[in-house]
Parts: sequence; C-alpha cells; structure tokens
Amino acid sequence: MKDKKAKITIDAKRCKGCMLCVQVCPKKILEKSEKVNKRGIQCVIVKTPEDCIACGLCAVICPDCAIEVNP
Ligand code: SF4
Ligand code: SF4
Repeated sequence: MKDKKAKITIDAKRCKGCMLCVQVCPKKILEKSEKVNKRGIQCVIVKTPEDCIACGLCAVICPDCAIEVNP
C-alpha cells in the first residue's frame, strides 16, 4: 500500500468543516485550516499529501462530496 499515491482535492466551496474526514483518515494527513473562509468556515487542508495511501475513506465519509481522491 505504501507505494500507492493519490491526488486529494478538497472543494472549499462544499466543505462545511465537520471534520469527519480528519477523524477517519488512517494516516492522519488531513487537518483543519487555521484560516476562516468567507462563509465563516475553517475548511480542511491536506497536511502531508505524500503520505496518502489512496484508501478513499475521506471521500466516502464526506457528507457534502467535497473530497476527490484520484489515485
Ligand atoms: S468531511 Fe467533507 S465537509 Fe466535512 S470537513 Fe471533511 S471535506 Fe469538509
Ligand atoms: S484517501 Fe485515505 S489516506 Fe488519503 S487522505 Fe483520504 S482517508 Fe487519508
């Protein structure tokens, strides 16, 4: 699994900052942004994209379909 790479895209317009993806990521590579956007939301950012194993759990759990995982 280690050699599997993915490109994670988070749509800031859809993200509502519920943090479900942060909790579910087995590699703990997602985190809350320190910046508050125009909608008053702290979106999720990808901290260490190189550690992503492309499991897709974050995309599956997101209630707003804000995450795209492209292996
Ligand atoms: S699960 Fe979706 S809506 Fe919730 S914080 Fe993550 S990207 Fe944003
Ligand atoms: S695909 Fe898996 S490892 Fe990569 S960010 Fe999402 S939950 Fe984490």
